Amino acid sequence: QRQVSFARRPIGTPTEDCFTLATVPVGRPGPGQVLVRNDVLSVDPYIRMRMEEKDSYAPVMRIGDVLVGRTVGQVVESHADGFVEGQWVVGRLGWQDYSVASPAELQLVDVSAAPATAYLGALGSTGITAWVGLHAFGKPKAGETVLVSAASGAVGSVVGQLARLHGCRAVGIAGGAAKCELVRSAYGFDDCIDYRAPDFAEALRRALPQGVDVYFDNVGGPILDAVLPLCNNFARIPLCGLVSQYNATEPYGMKNLREVFNRRVTIRGFVLSDHKDLWPQASAALAGAYAAGRLQYRETITEGLENAPRAFIDMLAGANVGKQLVRLRPA
Ligand code: NDP
Repeated sequence: QRQVSFARRPIGTPTEDCFTLATVPVGRPGPGQVLVRNDVLSVDPYIRMRMEEKDSYAPVMRIGDVLVGRTVGQVVESHADGFVEGQWVVGRLGWQDYSVASPAELQLVDVSAAPATAYLGALGSTGITAWVGLHAFGKPKAGETVLVSAASGAVGSVVGQLARLHGCRAVGIAGGAAKCELVRSAYGFDDCIDYRAPDFAEALRRALPQGVDVYFDNVGGPILDAVLPLCNNFARIPLCGLVSQYNATEPYGMKNLREVFNRRVTIRGFVLSDHKDLWPQASAALAGAYAAGRLQYRETITEGLENAPRAFIDMLAGANVGKQLVRLRPA
């Protein structure tokens, strides 16, 4: 089987030589274990943080480690109660064709309710991240304005739809006119502003006549700085990620931090794994919205495990529309 491991720590934007593709024997499942053939891999921005030697909430990757990542695939051999050949499962099984896993690492998914890949995106940890950040930390009330960055992406697109379902006005920020159009037409946001356009600051202000009550931030950096003066008093900012900073060699220096004080804004960083108690409620809400036809998602699927490093690098630069996935081998 093929697997991708971590070869070199990047400085700034990762390059393909930070990864190595190797062929190794498939592991043998022992008693109580399962062998899974991974079908599709999720490549996620947080992996960039794990490539740093700096302390972060996630363990630092060591050179030689198989890249971390969630996959959806099928059980091909089971020595564990409750798992049989052919079942579809999701787990954090890494960038590889096959994985040996214990039941605690696996979650069975219902491919009759939604395509298997949805459980890596809107119906999986991506959607749950959106739900937890919005409801547990954004705490929007109907009629309030929810602003979301990386709005065409995997997490951001779900946040805006959940905000609308909650009776809020949803405004997105995304890179480029085409992504903004998608955010409005496919995901149904009330508006979306292109942060790459020269009149970004002015367009953002115009799109927010009632100010911002909740800013769900996926990007940090200059966009967060531009949003702070538009916040209403007591606005909430669930800080989900800082994708604009992951490749940065010099951190962006915030200019408008005084507005956090001035407007009594709460900025709350959160990490999904701290909130397992909320997962069932979030999953049920997402599944319900999807079944009712009220949750749309898009995917960018790259073909071939050998192309996963490129997909990851390009995703950090915004080449993806919706969830970035890699189909490991031809169907
Ligand atoms: P996305 O699908 O949103 O892909 C990343 C997007 O980031 C790109 O498409 C690009 O969109 C945008 N981007 C890249 N560089 C910049 C920049 N300099 N300024 C603004 N936008 C930029 O990824 P995910 O939905 O998987 O992740 C979104 C965020 O959520 C990330 O910060 C991630 O780390 C975080 N996350 C946090 C979790 C948690 O537990 N807190 C769990 C899961 C994800 P564009 O073309 O619009 O620039």
